Amino acid sequence: MPRLAVHLGGALAALVLAAGAAIGQAPAPAPAQAALPPNELGRVMVLEYHKIDQPEARWTRTPENFRRDLQRLWDKGYRTIALGDFLAGKVALPAGTTPVVLTFDDSSPGQFRLVERGGQWVVDPECGVGILEAFARDHPGFGRAATFYVLPGADPPNRLFNQPEHATRKLQHLAQNGYEIGNHTLWHANLSKYGEAEVRRQIVQAQEWVQRHVPGYVLRTLALPHGAYPKQLEWAVSGSVDGKSYRNDAIMMVAGGAAPSPFARALDPYRLPRIQAVDADFGHWLQHFDQRPEQRFVSDGDPAVITVPRGRAGEVRPGLSQKVVER
Ligand SMILES: [Zn+2]
Repeated sequence: MPRLAVHLGGALAALVLAAGAAIGQAPAPAPAQAALPPNELGRVMVLEYHKIDQPEARWTRTPENFRRDLQRLWDKGYRTIALGDFLAGKVALPAGTTPVVLTFDDSSPGQFRLVERGGQWVVDPECGVGILEAFARDHPGFGRAATFYVLPGADPPNRLFNQPEHATRKLQHLAQNGYEIGNHTLWHANLSKYGEAEVRRQIVQAQEWVQRHVPGYVLRTLALPHGAYPKQLEWAVSGSVDGKSYRNDAIMMVAGGAAPSPFARALDPYRLPRIQAVDADFGHWLQHFDQRPEQRFVSDGDPAVITVPRGRAGEVRPGLSQKVVER
C-alpha cells in the first residue's frame, strides 16, 4: 500500500528563521567567495526538498523560505547544475562559483501546480517550479536545474503533483525544460522490506508509468524511499522485468551531508548523500562552508581542466577526460 505516513512523521522541529534584510536596506557587501581559489575536489551540496507549502515543518518548506534559500545560495556564490552533469563530471560554471544540486521528492502538490489565469493554465508562481523559474529569470547564471523524484502510483496527494488532468503536461514541461525526472519507486515502497521481484517491479513500473506521459523518457537516478536500501544493492542499480529494463546511474540517500566532488575517488554514486533543505540541516551546511571555505567545491571556470589543491591530484578518480592541474 502506498503510504507516506512514516516518511512524514518525524519529530517536528521548531524552525526559527533569521530575519531577512529589511526593505530599503543597502545590499550586503560582495560575498566573500569572490576571492575563493578554485578547488574542484571540494564537496557539493545536493539539497533535498519535500513539500513546498504552508506552514514550515519538518518536511515542509514554505514558498517564502524556498525563495530565501535560493537567494542565500545565489548570494554565497552557488549555482545550480543538473544531477546528470554532476554525475558525468560536467561542471561548466564561472570561476569562483560552487555547484549545488536541487532535488524534490514525492511529487507533492506544492512542488508543481498549475493555476488558471485568464483562461490559460500557467505555472503557479507560488509553487516550487514557479519560484525556481522566476528566480532563475531574475538571476541570470543561477540556472534552474532540478531533479523531481516523482511517485506515479501513490495515493493522492502525492501522485504526480495531484492534478491528474495536468500530469502529462507537467511531466512534459519538466522533461522539455532541462529538469530531470527521477525514480522514487512506483508508490514510495520501502525497498528493504521486499524481495528481489517486488524491488525490481517497483523501479521498472515507475519508469513505465512516467513513459505513459512522456514517451521514451528514461529515469536515470533513484531516490530511496525512507532512505532504505534493498537487501542487495544490485537490485536497485539495473535489471529488467518482463522485457523492460532500467538502469540507475546514481542512488540518492535521504541524509549524509555534503557529497564528495564529482571528480573525487571518494564519490560513490550508489551512495550519494543529500542535505535536507530545512534550516537545521541546510543551515548547518551553509554555515559549515562559510567557516571552512577550503572544503567547498569552487570552480576554476574551465570545464576542460580539473584544478585541485597542491598535492591532491591523486584523489581525482580515474577515467575522466579532463586535465588535472594542482594549483
Ligand atoms: Zn520520499
